[in-house]
Amino acid sequence: MDFRLTEEQLLLRRTVREFAETEIRPHVRDWDQAQHFPVELVPKLASLGLLGVQFPESYGGAGMSAIDYCICIEELARVDPGVALSVAAHNGLCAAHIAMFGTEAQKQEYLVPLARGEKIGAWGLTESSSGSDAAGMRTTATLVGDCWELNGSKAFTTHGRVGDVMVAMAVTDRAAGPKGISAFIIERGTTGMTPGKKEDKLGMRASDTSEVIFDRCRIPAGRLLGEVGQGFVGAMQVLDAGRIGIAALAVGLAQGAYESALRYAQERQAFGRTISRFQAIQWKLADNATRIEAARLLTYRAAALKDRGVRTTVESAIAKLFSSEIAVKAADDCVQIHGGYGFVKDYPAEKYFRDVKLTTIGEGTSEIQRLVIARHLLS
Ligand SMILES: Cc1cc2nc3c(=O)[nH]c(=O)nc-3n(C[C@H](O)[C@H](O)[C@H](O)COP(=O)(O)OP(=O)(O)OC[C@H]3O[C@@H](n4cnc5c(N)ncnc54)[C@H](O)[C@@H]3O)c2cc1C
Repeated sequence: MDFRLTEEQLLLRRTVREFAETEIRPHVRDWDQAQHFPVELVPKLASLGLLGVQFPESYGGAGMSAIDYCICIEELARVDPGVALSVAAHNGLCAAHIAMFGTEAQKQEYLVPLARGEKIGAWGLTESSSGSDAAGMRTTATLVGDCWELNGSKAFTTHGRVGDVMVAMAVTDRAAGPKGISAFIIERGTTGMTPGKKEDKLGMRASDTSEVIFDRCRIPAGRLLGEVGQGFVGAMQVLDAGRIGIAALAVGLAQGAYESALRYAQERQAFGRTISRFQAIQWKLADNATRIEAARLLTYRAAALKDRGVRTTVESAIAKLFSSEIAVKAADDCVQIHGGYGFVKDYPAEKYFRDVKLTTIGEGTSEIQRLVIARHLLS
């Protein structure tokens, strides 16, 4: 067991950190306030390979490992968790689903432009009445001649408005339950597919989130992704890997919040000394540094197992659960250490505090991660 990163990984971390500091940091507040998805950043993310991190170079990707992917997501989240969420959803949900289950023709047509960053990906599992209980979805897909016709809607879709390619799950056989759900690839502009309400969010506001509506939306039969009835099972496998990305996002966010608190504690004076001299503040800093390190190790462990081809359902759930919950604490302590300045927008503390909550909700809530872990313990 070697806990050191390789020289290449250290270089990767420095490169993405520098990119985030120069290309993202100056805009974080504006994008957040305007709820602006930074489409202008997409070519720059693409040029670094950040929109196809783990996909083979032969499919337009950067051919990096799952640990490399964690490093990239962490460094983006350290500066802007909203951008990191978009990158994670594009890579870890839409493109990953096509990479895992697509035919060679589908990979050439969709994965290659997604991995190159020429197209943005969206992924629709959640519906307005089914999130944790995703198999309770209502959207249907029916074969009509040589087309599938989709009817229904998806909720909270990352890139629901800006996505060029969407992977959506729909019921093809109601009686078969979860085994009656299939996955489909739908291109933006297809008749019958329209973005619905853009969500006005608490945090992660630079990441586009909206409803997507399917009204007699017909797509060629060849856009079925994977086998009929395997869409839900496939989506769960996609989430196993996707959750490692959200864990990395939480680690990066926690790191950003912690660094911000550390810096402030060394500047702010009270009672004639910097507040970093007070033991109450030191303990907060020490506890956060410790928790972040533990979360990072859990996340890298899940990633290392994924790199070895091991199914990581439990390890991903453990990493996501722990990382997201310690990140909530890190963001809370960051605000507390900033005092009143943690409550206003002049400092990044309040934004970390708003953004972090998504990490305990998206790609499965903390309660659902505990269910996954407990199911394993009791099996
Ligand atoms: C910013 C953002 C981006 C998102 N992006 C996407 C995306 O790109 N694609 C996509 O498909 N989805 C996306 N989602 C949806 C997200 O995955 C869901 O919101 C999440 O899975 C929770 O589902 P829900 O909102 O329906 O909550 P519910 O499932 O209604 O849960 C409500 C509460 O009940 C609890 N609960 C539910 N069932 C149980 C149980 N069995 N035991 C204990 N507690 C339970 C939950 O933990 C939660 O606390 C996104 C959400 C947000 C906020």
